[in-house]
Order: sequence, then structure tokens, then C-alpha cells
Amino acid sequence: METQVRVPRPRKCDIFRVEVSATKYEEVVRYAIDCAKRGVSALLDFMPVHGLVMGARDEQFRAVLNDFDLLYTLDDRDWRAGISEAMKVALLKDAPFFAWIEHHAGDLVERSLPAMAHLVHRSAELHLNHIATSGDPFELGSSRPLDFGHWAAHKLEQLSHHELRHGEAVAVGIALDSTYSYLTGSLPHADWRRIIDLFEAVGLPIWHPDMATPGSGGRPAVLAGLEEFREHLGGRLTIMLLERIGSGFEVHELDEAVLLEASDLLRRRIEGGEREGWEPTPALAR
Ligand SMILES: [Zn+2]
Repeated sequence: METQVRVPRPRKCDIFRVEVSATKYEEVVRYAIDCAKRGVSALLDFMPVHGLVMGARDEQFRAVLNDFDLLYTLDDRDWRAGISEAMKVALLKDAPFFAWIEHHAGDLVERSLPAMAHLVHRSAELHLNHIATSGDPFELGSSRPLDFGHWAAHKLEQLSHHELRHGEAVAVGIALDSTYSYLTGSLPHADWRRIIDLFEAVGLPIWHPDMATPGSGGRPAVLAGLEEFREHLGGRLTIMLLERIGSGFEVHELDEAVLLEASDLLRRRIEGGEREGWEPTPALAR
């Protein structure tokens, strides 16, 4: 398929508008890959990257605007919300990047633009490298590692009537699936605590009251997100879990009892803080 997307020359000011004549998702992704090959990695900040990958199927994609000054227009909540997507891709692919975020958590919270700019660039690089090298650039298969933490996130956004920002919902979803990874014995305790600690350090939630909102049959409504995610994948359920910071693996089913245990653990953490007893000892992990 011949792409109809015109690749622009970046202007000196590094702000450029891209008129996309095509509306198809595939063409937009091709465009992103073309830009990456040309070294225009600054094109995409991590929020548009995510919109590109996840949201552009049904939306007319009109422009990519790259202007870090726009970040100044965000309030603190939205400034922080995007950090979860960078944490997501760091957890799956780049342990040194995760350590970098830990080291710069204070800078990020204090709205250091150089720190945020680095976060955006590295996150975009990792997203684009995955899209360009995974062998499945349009994510037509069942494996979608960039969806880590998203099965619960999508459902929580809906349950909260979108009061939760996408990035906040992703933080809760990642905290949940990381805790599940720990409780089922795949993720070391120290790595799990680093993840929870970092979410707290950057001011992102690890739990939300809608995790407990009842659904049909008294079962928490968020669990319906698993079935909806399977439908979203278009076939077999595939969920990413963690074996360590920087490395994920896939499973095709989750134990709902352990998921609820993970959610309860995180709820007790936010309600009780560091109070003793909120987390199981590693020996209790399966
Ligand atoms: Zn996302």
C-alpha cells in the first residue's frame, strides 16, 4: 500500500504541523516509522505516540505537534499522568531507563522540562523501536506488549466515567499486574516494591475505588475488563506480566482470586500507608 502521508521537514523551531491526508491507522503508523528511520525521533511525544498506536484506528489523525513548551500548559495532574506510559515501556524493555526515572522522580514532579523531555524522547524511542522491529507493526496478532497494564486501565476509565486520566488508569493497571506478577512468584519482591515506590514518588495512583465497584453477580466490575480486552485483541486473551524490571512475558489467563488479592493489597497500601501488614512477606507469595 502506497502511503499518502507526506513526511515533513522539521523546522528550526522544532514545531511542525503535519497534515495527514490518510485516515487509516496503518498509514499513520507507517508515517511514524518513516520519521523514525529519518531520525526525526523528536516528532512524537509519548502521549501522541500512544494515541497513534491505540487511538488512531477510529479517529481522523490530523496533526502531530511537537513543542515541549506545550507541556507547560498542563496542570500538575496531567503533567504527571504521562509518566506511567514511560514507566510501562521501561518495565518491559529497558531497566536502565526505569532506574533513570527513579533517579529523576523528584525532577519530574518538580516539573523539570529537561527531565520530562528526556522521558518523552526515550519513551518515544522505545515505543517506535517496538513498532518498527516487532515484526507486527500493526499489532494484528494477539501479542501487544504496549498494552501492559491496559486491560484494567481501559475498564477503570469507563467505570470512573473518565474522571481518571488515561495515564492514571494505566498506573493502577500496571500496579495491579505487577502485584499479580509478584504474588504468583514471577516478579521478585524488591522489583515489585521499586515499582510501587516509583508510582508513589511521582504522584500516580496505585489503586482506585472503582477497583471495588460491583458488577454482575457481585463480582467486581473491573474483572469484566479481561473479557473486553480479549475481544479488543480479537482472539485469544494475552496479558503481559513481569519477570523482572525490564522484562515481560505473556500469559493467556489470569487467576481472578489472585487478582482480587492483588487489588486488596494495593487498597490497604493507600489506606494504611506504610503501616505494618499491608504487604505479604515474600514467603507468602506463590
Ligand atoms: Zn495507554
